[in-house]
Amino acid sequence: MIVPVPDHIIPLDNILPEEPLLMMGAGPVPLPARVAAANSIVINHLGDTMATVVQQIKRMSAYVFQTESQHILGVAGPGSAAMEMAVVNLVVPDSRVLSICNGFFSTRLAQMAERVGAEVTYLQVAEPEVVDIEQVAAYLDEVDPQVVTIVQGETSNTVFNRNLPAVCALAKARGAMVIVDAVCTLSTLPLEMDSWGVDAVITGGQKGLASIPGVSLIAFSECAWDFIEARQDQLRHWCLDAKLADQFWYKNSYHYTAPVSGLLALHEALRLICIETLEQRFARHSRHSAALQAGVEALGLSLYVAPEARLNSVVGICVPEGITGPAILKQMSERYRVEISGSFGPKIVRIGQMGEQCRSHHLFRTLHALGSSIKTLGGVVDVPAGVAQLEMVLEVELQIRGQFT
Ligand SMILES: *Cc1c(COP(=O)(O)O)cnc(C)c1O
Repeated sequence: MIVPVPDHIIPLDNILPEEPLLMMGAGPVPLPARVAAANSIVINHLGDTMATVVQQIKRMSAYVFQTESQHILGVAGPGSAAMEMAVVNLVVPDSRVLSICNGFFSTRLAQMAERVGAEVTYLQVAEPEVVDIEQVAAYLDEVDPQVVTIVQGETSNTVFNRNLPAVCALAKARGAMVIVDAVCTLSTLPLEMDSWGVDAVITGGQKGLASIPGVSLIAFSECAWDFIEARQDQLRHWCLDAKLADQFWYKNSYHYTAPVSGLLALHEALRLICIETLEQRFARHSRHSAALQAGVEALGLSLYVAPEARLNSVVGICVPEGITGPAILKQMSERYRVEISGSFGPKIVRIGQMGEQCRSHHLFRTLHALGSSIKTLGGVVDVPAGVAQLEMVLEVELQIRGQFT
């Protein structure tokens, strides 16, 4: 024996807060009770029960992705693993890739393509703006890429590439395949994989879908799959090889031991989306995000992104002069038991509006915690005005939509 038993290991109960914090950051998001319960179960990763679960996950995912593709795969790994799976299967060494970069995650896709050995052209978009469609056309003409990568919603700086359908159409017209990162947007904002002509859509578990982190989904189009099947070179990635993953996802066979508990959780998360329907879910996200944004402005704070480029799924709020983001986060977490996110660069804090985060009781608690914390730190905010505005916009939007969610 060389390594002794470690001493002073604190039991989890003493590490975790007695009451869980309200997770209102950029993910992971709060788990619906059914998802959390499913996540505590272990079953055989092969066999009839799992086969039924997998079959249903694929059918429900097809609805959520809006695709008839027969190439929907789960990934045991973070959203980034699904991103990498899209890239390594569709990007061939020495091929040309155009990466539309307007933040942290879109740049990550470009870096992954570089690691595969592609010649990557960065279309750098000024922050916090949406990519300009004419610029995309010009770059496509110049670069003539085999693959285009883009993020639908840049969680990092809260920019929404709302002209994604136009980008896809342009790329398709030139014969390029399009990889879309929809980690924070899938099921919070419309995404129509087939009708927009997307070749690979990626999502993680812990954001839009409101499942656990570490189990992700990817959908390849028929066209992308034909490309994958026709590839002659052997992938350097074994776990991320889509043809191997197909063994588990379509042939009831073994690739690696599937993350069974996480897949059960994902099943339940998808089922809740199907019960709610995409239309209702988009409306719920839109209504709550609009109300939160109005509430934040009524506090006297400003939003980081202009309305035309603003993401509903994650809201970026400028930190007032004389205060720091980390100080706000600390105050909110310690005093109000609400967690929100800082940022990777701009002086903002971010509040998530994904899945269970879009419930009015969570919004009131979060907005109040934000306002009160900034006030405590010496900032000038009108907390009652913010909360009143939140209430008013929720009501107005409810009347407009006639919905009760
Ligand atoms: C969170 C996120 C990712 C990365 O997901 P991980 O699970 O952290 O790997 C990728 N893209 C977007 C848009 C995200 O929001």
